Amino acid sequence: TPAAPPVLDVRDVTVRFAGLTALDGVSFTVAPGSVHALIGPNGAGKSTCFNVLSGLCRPAAGSVTLGDTELTRLAPHRIAALGVARTFQNIVTTHGTVADNLMLGRHALSRAGFAASALRLPSARREQREHLGRAREIAELTGLGSHFDSPVALLSYGDRKRVELARALCLEPRVLLLDEPVAGMNAAERARTAEVVGELRAELGLSVVLVEHDMGLVMRLADDVTVLDFGRPIAHGTPDEVRRDPEVLRAYLGT
Ligand code: ADP
Ligand code: MG
Repeated sequence: TPAAPPVLDVRDVTVRFAGLTALDGVSFTVAPGSVHALIGPNGAGKSTCFNVLSGLCRPAAGSVTLGDTELTRLAPHRIAALGVARTFQNIVTTHGTVADNLMLGRHALSRAGFAASALRLPSARREQREHLGRAREIAELTGLGSHFDSPVALLSYGDRKRVELARALCLEPRVLLLDEPVAGMNAAERARTAEVVGELRAELGLSVVLVEHDMGLVMRLADDVTVLDFGRPIAHGTPDEVRRDPEVLRAYLGT
């Protein structure tokens, strides 16, 4: 049987900053319900690639397509509304409760206008209740259920970082972009997060693009891996294939 068409198709993407080619003809596809890892040494262009996928950075060449819809020149909020959500490498929230943060994530999905909710119309109240219910489910899915009403400032670093993941999920995305989701976590927190990402794929059929330095996590979670080095794609394959690729070893060992 032929493979299902990709949910995300990244084709020949090139990004230039003054004097620097941050991405140089990068192409990869993400199969529905799969985890695609994007790996490579520091400065390889992984975060820049996420910036292109989420509309924060306009490529000099190439295209990004979600299903049948080209995303390449759309504004970030349009791309998010079409179903691509992301987390950021270095952002961890410190304000409000877990519930507050997840409701902020639901805000973009709100049907009732700002005026309706400000006037506390019944339709807006009903919608608010629905959003709160779904936020609670997402907290459960991401292992934050028992902390739903806790101030995030009181949570462990690992839980706080997972609030970012949960907030991205509140957009009900088709594709979730995770930029170093376990960076700074201890071993137990890493294991817990890996478990959560695995469950998200299994239970929501979510497609994930994962940028991560923790090779153990990549090997455990990824179906496909694309390796970048100085903005160039130098290898593509299953985790086992790229792990044995001489070019990849060279890029990582710097020999
Ligand atoms: P990675 O996430 O793989 O570590 P980045 O995508 O952050 O790499 O960066 C790739 C390259 O592009 C680096 O050399 C970085 O310094 C450069 N870069 C990233 N963003 C900008 C920017 N806004 N302006 C200029 N250079 C940038
Ligand atoms: Mg980065």
